[in-house]
Amino acid sequence: MNVLGIESSCDETGVALVSTQAGALPRLRAHALYSQVQMHEAYGGVVPELASRDHIRRVLPLTRAVLDEAGSTLQQIDVVAYTKGPGLAGALLVGAGVACALAAALDKPTLGIHHLEGHLLSPFLSADAPTFPFVALLVSGGHTQLMRVDAVGSYELLGETIDDAAGEAFDKSAKLLGLGYPGGPALARLAEGGRADAYALPRPLLHSGDLDFSFAGLKTAVMTQHRKLGPAPDAQQLADLAASTQAAIVEVLVKKSLRALKATGLQRLVVSGGVGANAQLRQQLNAAALRRGLRVHYPELALCTDNGAMIALAAAMRLDAGAAVAARDYAFDVRPRWPLGQL
Ligand code: ATP
Ligand code: MG
Ligand code: FE
Repeated sequence: MNVLGIESSCDETGVALVSTQAGALPRLRAHALYSQVQMHEAYGGVVPELASRDHIRRVLPLTRAVLDEAGSTLQQIDVVAYTKGPGLAGALLVGAGVACALAAALDKPTLGIHHLEGHLLSPFLSADAPTFPFVALLVSGGHTQLMRVDAVGSYELLGETIDDAAGEAFDKSAKLLGLGYPGGPALARLAEGGRADAYALPRPLLHSGDLDFSFAGLKTAVMTQHRKLGPAPDAQQLADLAASTQAAIVEVLVKKSLRALKATGLQRLVVSGGVGANAQLRQQLNAAALRRGLRVHYPELALCTDNGAMIALAAAMRLDAGAAVAARDYAFDVRPRWPLGQL
């Protein structure tokens, strides 16, 4: 079965074609991505109306590119999957509208996919794919969650952030340090030349005994520390503060992930979401896993942030698991707010 996936929940238009294979994981045939980052950069964040309009411009050319690269035709698509939520309402409506119109024209069924399920399953496209069950650490721009995952569709929330997401902590700290948007990769780059122990920053909820996170206080601590550096901090001070900030975020993520593994008795951790691209996080999780005989799986670097491949994959895995596709009435809705636990 050939599944076309369309992602448009935020500021990336992603399209991909995935094929299911009997007795094996689905195979990614082709994917294409257009990032609106440059367009939103001038505003310091995503402007929803601009995002929606740009998705309209990109989605069909990307679909054409994906089919060409896969050597496939529109008629060979069996199911059209799209991101149903959570995300920006207008942006979601573009992907959902195009997906349902395309499916109607082709007389094929549709499948609305939860964006976070896409992130969560994205490591199944890696060469080193995981197996169930596992603990998932989902660290994206809008979410920070630990989940127990026993199968496709079986997601038990173990803990989550009570305020900012880890990606948000990276982005907001980066903004304070005068770095661009999105700040995560920029802050990580600046941190490479800095000392992680230069500034003592808080590790919120590290010893809370539960699996929740909190990053809002960290941002305030970074702001206070940055002010103390005066109006013209030198490059080394900024690199040190970046490294200290990253170390604080990474330490909490690593320790809580290990605690979740211990609490569930599971041996396997699956990381996903944009922050999963962070080299320090990967290095420290790998080191901890090696010491404890645990396994850690990640998405390919290019598939950590939003993309169409994860949506097509999640749809294909759902279909393999026996999910029903939507009846061919092509009415659609989106769910801008949609907790994964409600799946
Ligand atoms: P959500 O999926 O929760 O709706 P989102 O789709 O915006 O949010 P993603 O695309 O998964 O989130 O990830 C984007 C986030 O990942 C941004 O906050 C970005 O700063 C962060 N990020 C990306 N690369 C890195 C990196 N190397 N180090 C740290 N953070 C990173
Ligand atoms: Mg994005
Ligand atoms: Fe995302």
